[in-house]
Amino acid sequence: MVAGRQGQPFISKLNARLLTVLPKFDEMLATLVAEPSISSTSADIDSSNLRVIEHLANWLDGMGFATEVMPLPNAPHKANLIATLGADSGEAGGLVLAGHTDTVPFDEHKWHTDPFQITAADNKLYGLGSCDMKGFFPCALEAVSTFLDRKLKAPITIVATSDEESSMAGARYLVECQKPKADYAIIGEPTGLMPVYAHKGIAFMSIRLQGASGHSSNPDLGCNALDSMYDVMGALITYRQELAARHRNPAFEVQVPTMNLGCMHAGDSPNRICAHAELQIDLRLLPGMATQDILDELRERLNQVVARCGTQLEFTTHYPPVPPFESNLQGDLVQTLASHSGIAPGTVAFGTEGHYLQSLGMETVVWGPGSIDQAHQPNEYLSRDQIAPAEEVLRQVIQRYCII
Ligand SMILES: [Zn+2]
Repeated sequence: MVAGRQGQPFISKLNARLLTVLPKFDEMLATLVAEPSISSTSADIDSSNLRVIEHLANWLDGMGFATEVMPLPNAPHKANLIATLGADSGEAGGLVLAGHTDTVPFDEHKWHTDPFQITAADNKLYGLGSCDMKGFFPCALEAVSTFLDRKLKAPITIVATSDEESSMAGARYLVECQKPKADYAIIGEPTGLMPVYAHKGIAFMSIRLQGASGHSSNPDLGCNALDSMYDVMGALITYRQELAARHRNPAFEVQVPTMNLGCMHAGDSPNRICAHAELQIDLRLLPGMATQDILDELRERLNQVVARCGTQLEFTTHYPPVPPFESNLQGDLVQTLASHSGIAPGTVAFGTEGHYLQSLGMETVVWGPGSIDQAHQPNEYLSRDQIAPAEEVLRQVIQRYCII
């Protein structure tokens, strides 16, 4: 482990020599994919990301970066990495290239190849996390390696986080530590090289109702949680309609905030009054909507409903909600990425760590190689066609913000 180790000064002939030991793209990706780093709410599936962090730290250390591994306080088997080149120049600002090191779980029977091995076929690199988003790191490292013998005017920082696919705990810890600090940040999620300046927020919630059981022949013997849930669902659907009437953003394919009533578990027998019911919902809010205010309002509505019904309400979020993200569409980074990629900025339907990096004071744009259509799927792949253009655009951006 390389926790807290400081790297070498940022420009030297030594760095240029070390460049020759940076493994080739395919080898780096294969190394990262071979290390399981699954994030999951199920403890038996959830795995450490430390080996991925360690490989990245070693390569970056070899390139002359100062590397800092940041174990998460309540989960020391998970860590973030911040690696900086040129910080000792005394110059502030610069560019962050960020990505998450974890993957979602996988469906073993649906893979045609070993998910932990990179298989090259049909101009594609198959493997778990190849596209979302271990593939971004070799792109970033290769792009940066071009400049190792150049003088920097501002630092280049590589950030690798943990737990993006589950709790966003890694990104939240960065905010807690108030680092890294820079002027610009690219989050290399697979956007097909489209600069993404906005996405919705995501909140998963459980609504649990506790009633009282009794013989079904006499409703007065208990308090029916399913009857109460019927009223709760009515209130949720009414609230959803109100939100959609109040908020609209034409930049999104689905222009209004959404609420999905996703699954419900209740009761155990037709001849017992249902004593317990749980409904799980997914709420997706537009940029500009205050997540906590909406959740407070929703809780208040549901409290009023259950007060009439006589059940007890428990209203919880699965994780701290992922806030909506929106960057200035006219920002320098988003426009620079658009012009070098030849793709106009847009929005996406998935959540990212955008809000967290933005809250550290950086103009943040989500942009990276690969398609989200291949993410979270069996036989995930990164198309080779994306790699060279991604590296070329990264070189242009690094040149603009960091090179004299
Ligand atoms: Zn991702």
